[in-house]
Amino acid sequence: MSKTRSSKRDQETRSSAALRQSFLDFFKARGHTIVPSMSLVPGGDQTLLFTNSGMVQFKDVFLGTGSRPYTRVADSQKCMRVAGKHNDLDDVGRDDIHHTFFEMLGNWSFGDYYKEEAIGWAWELLTGVWDLPKDKLWATCFEDEQGQIPRDDEAAEIWLKQPGFLPEHLLFFGRKDNFWEMADTGPCGPDSEIHLDRGPEFCDKNDIPGHVCQVNGDCQRYLELWNLVFIQYNRSSPTDLQPLPAKHVDTGLGFDRLVSVLQDVPSNYRTDLFMPMIKRVQELAGHSDEERETQITPYRVIADHARAAAFLIADGVVPGNIGRNYVSRMIIRRASRFGGMIGLNEPFLADVALTVIEEYGDAYPELKRNSNAITETLTEEEDRFHRTIDTGISHLNDLMERVHSENGSTLPGEATFELYATFGLPLEITRDIARENGLEVDEAGFLGSMEEHRLASSVGDSLKGLTEETVEVYQDLLSSLKTEGKLPLDGVQYDPYGADAAEGTVLALIREGKLVNQADAGERVGVVLPSTPFYVESGGQVSDTGDIRSANGDSWAIEINDTQQPVSGLVVHFGKITSGSVRVGESALAAINSARRFDIMRNHTATHLLHAALRTVLGDHVRQAGSLVAPDRLRFDFTHSHAMSEDEITRVEAWVNEAILANFKLTIVHKPLKAAVSEGAMALFGETYGETVRTISIGNEDRISYELCGGTHVEETGVIGPFLIVSEGSVAAGIRRIEALTGRAALSTIHDRLSSLEMIARQLGIAPLDIPGRVEQLLAERDSLTRELTRNRKDETLKTFEQLEPREVVGVQFLTGILPDADAELLRELADRFRNTHEESAIVLASVQDGKPLIIAALSEKMVQRGLHAGELVKHIAQPIGGSGGGKPNLAQAGGKNAEALPQALDLVESWLQDRLG
Ligand SMILES: [Zn+2]
Ligand SMILES: [Zn+2]
Repeated sequence: MSKTRSSKRDQETRSSAALRQSFLDFFKARGHTIVPSMSLVPGGDQTLLFTNSGMVQFKDVFLGTGSRPYTRVADSQKCMRVAGKHNDLDDVGRDDIHHTFFEMLGNWSFGDYYKEEAIGWAWELLTGVWDLPKDKLWATCFEDEQGQIPRDDEAAEIWLKQPGFLPEHLLFFGRKDNFWEMADTGPCGPDSEIHLDRGPEFCDKNDIPGHVCQVNGDCQRYLELWNLVFIQYNRSSPTDLQPLPAKHVDTGLGFDRLVSVLQDVPSNYRTDLFMPMIKRVQELAGHSDEERETQITPYRVIADHARAAAFLIADGVVPGNIGRNYVSRMIIRRASRFGGMIGLNEPFLADVALTVIEEYGDAYPELKRNSNAITETLTEEEDRFHRTIDTGISHLNDLMERVHSENGSTLPGEATFELYATFGLPLEITRDIARENGLEVDEAGFLGSMEEHRLASSVGDSLKGLTEETVEVYQDLLSSLKTEGKLPLDGVQYDPYGADAAEGTVLALIREGKLVNQADAGERVGVVLPSTPFYVESGGQVSDTGDIRSANGDSWAIEINDTQQPVSGLVVHFGKITSGSVRVGESALAAINSARRFDIMRNHTATHLLHAALRTVLGDHVRQAGSLVAPDRLRFDFTHSHAMSEDEITRVEAWVNEAILANFKLTIVHKPLKAAVSEGAMALFGETYGETVRTISIGNEDRISYELCGGTHVEETGVIGPFLIVSEGSVAAGIRRIEALTGRAALSTIHDRLSSLEMIARQLGIAPLDIPGRVEQLLAERDSLTRELTRNRKDETLKTFEQLEPREVVGVQFLTGILPDADAELLRELADRFRNTHEESAIVLASVQDGKPLIIAALSEKMVQRGLHAGELVKHIAQPIGGSGGGKPNLAQAGGKNAEALPQALDLVESWLQDRLG
């Protein structure tokens, strides 16, 4: 085989797609189940803005609140890091290794294999399959600098046994580098990292005196590739570590970095994960290779942000003003601004995103499925940004000038927030521009203003006031309730599907974020019970309300208006104590508001019917993109590129109503995810599912709807009652929204509308069905009367105009007058008439429109040639009416506030002319 052919084959096996697959194949061959990446929107984890590592998908297994049907699993996970603790955004584009979106490869063991296999397989894959040189790899293990936790000699010995591993390449590090914990308490354990020595030429700190290249050092020579975490302890207090009965393995391998090493390029951006996008941008910009290299930062930012935005939109995160949607908006706008730096002034990101979809669509099919939504959303958002960016930046320049002139160094937070609120300049872009001008931004001030405007930028509204501290309180509460045996290992027994009420002991009371033993009438509390019938907001369905009261007589009662799950396994009911005092340990009876719940169930089942109806009427491209199931209405967002016609809306509404009248049965079955999906069950946009799923099918022999869903439903469609669509509109590019009513809300709306019709019919003295014809007739009559009135007014105005007497000043004819009913067009027409018939003339006419004064001033051509300007005239005489104006030399217009002062304004004309001509 010739050399060129072998290196071509080598290139193919080292493509990023082949490498990703070889990782999954390697672990599949070793008994691992391969699962798809979870959504970038972490389902069920309210403490996270985005999925930021591979283990998020399995957090519940490590915490002991969830389980999986497999014990070995591997995947490649989509991750985002843009805000909070891991804010890499500033570095993105400016160096070779930071990204907003990235992929993390991982393999896990849940109480199955342990250190021996985890280390052995990592070594085998890196050196045996991917041929990394053994003498360039280093391993680190844990040694506690505080001497409290045993050294991980077990891992160290396993490393020394690996074929070809150099014993001097084994190093020990302390808690910061080699001990992993999720929180102050809970599962934790030592980890072992694998680092690669890329060679002295990669050191970027050579010129710093005293610098030594080393593992966990501060230069780019040693690269951390893979982290193997061994979860072997449970921490119940800062000093108390208990060995776990089942030990777990959790590993993470940064994919972008791995590909740069295996493709032997000096930067992640030079790998085939980024080069196709960079080349596409180069084509669009029309740059030579040299031009590209001298402006590489914008190229990198655009490639990174376009990739992130495409993945976000595919997971349903469209641009918006709060939380995750703000991040989507910010990333698109930032990429657009960097495009401007290389001459891309028209929307271009959809083009780049098509390359992302092409390159990543096989590994992540959601990109292909949502291709239209991705490109349309990008272009629409760029368009929206372009409309305001110039004004925004010119205001920012003014602001920077002011700060410079006052010798300041920081832009005030409130003013920069105004730039966002008014001109759509996100903080991150303002900060970029400020830094280019040697200034900083008061970010705390910006966030404070944002908070005031209810546009909190951190975790979205799902969190409803839960802060990281209160989440910790709940985490600690859950683990102590389990340790004390008051709750089973899987936490609070959650059953919103059975009875409407449940009895149990009050396990905990939370007041103002703190645990208390007793609370009194008038106070707001959170209540934890061993089991609950209350539904917790999820899948669009809102939480139940109801009450919790003493089970022994009526000594106390709490009105519950919200139910939340702040941490997996803990349900907390929030509400106000309406009577008595409640203590921990007392027996309680919890009951939901059943009538409200029934309304919610009608709306939830109707949402499934609506989804099926839309797919039947509009086509299979329709997919759910979000929903709200409340007691008084339902809202359904779906992918569809244009507004629905009147006829389509009618057909969808009729389809749902027919399905209701057919009184179909609902069948709810739990089954494996794979089976459900292969039978055609609809999984939802941006949702994540466990291995076993709950399926809802509607229909008799032939089902008409089949969805994965955890919500509560009616048993037969007949009880939904009337279904009424009240609005259809757009929420984002490619996404439409329908709002609809069922049951009691639909009935009362229908009743209200019918009674207005009855009332109108009575007023008109006709039958309700004759209303459309009569209204049409009345409108036609009104139009003809209006036309007649306008004609009469114009005649009146003309009569007044003709009675006006021209006067003369220094040989110039001038005319002024007030024509109260004339509009601007008529005033101009009359002014022209006078100006064209008098060679040296000026005319000023005024009227009052909607109570506001209006002035038109015109000069003949001769007057303009003599240097007079109608704009100056109108500006001068508008002063008494408290207005201003302007226009062309021969014709100008002014408006104002004070119509009474029009005579004074017109009096100024003569003296102005005298002044100018004299
Ligand atoms: Zn170095
Ligand atoms: Zn549902």
